[in-house]
Amino acid sequence: MSIIDMHVHTEFSPCSRVKLIESLSKAAQLGVGLAITDHDTIKGALKAKSFSQKYEVKIFIGCEVSTKDGQVLAYGIMEEIPPYLPAEQTIELIHEQGAVAVASHPFRNDRESLFEKTYFLPLDGIEVLNLAGGGVSKDAREVAVRRGLAQTGGSDAHTLNLVGEAGTKFPYQPESEEDLIKLIKRKECTPVKFTRR
Ligand SMILES: [Zn+2]
Ligand SMILES: [Zn+2]
Repeated sequence: MSIIDMHVHTEFSPCSRVKLIESLSKAAQLGVGLAITDHDTIKGALKAKSFSQKYEVKIFIGCEVSTKDGQVLAYGIMEEIPPYLPAEQTIELIHEQGAVAVASHPFRNDRESLFEKTYFLPLDGIEVLNLAGGGVSKDAREVAVRRGLAQTGGSDAHTLNLVGEAGTKFPYQPESEEDLIKLIKRKECTPVKFTRR
């Protein structure tokens, strides 16, 4: 079993006050892995990954991609996706890289969420638990169940106090982005709110 906070912003997101190094120490302390998902860049994720051995924490490359229709979390991309494309095209580009696309806080009440498009876009998963955005969304869970998509959870931390405080539970420790993608595709994951042991 392993827990990964699937939604973390570092100083590579303009709106985040999380220091990348501090997020790594905190995750190590909590015994959780991190998917670094800065806005429209994987630079923070790549940097975090380079420190992953030193801090003994599993790091996965992610990105919260801005689209015309709302934000989409990409896991396992190696090339950045241009922002503000129509969501369908963004998801296509994510899939072309063999990565997976998850709707970020799909029903959060702002223009950064996919809302009704969550019902038909070719997504692999739905972020059901977004700690910063208020916790578990019933609407998000419902659409995930109805569509048979993976359910994920993350802190959406923009400050250190939230890093690693919510996440997604996997049946075993994914060793690579490839493993993580496989588990999401197989829906072998559950959102978890309390990660402290
Ligand atoms: Zn977001
Ligand atoms: Zn976010």
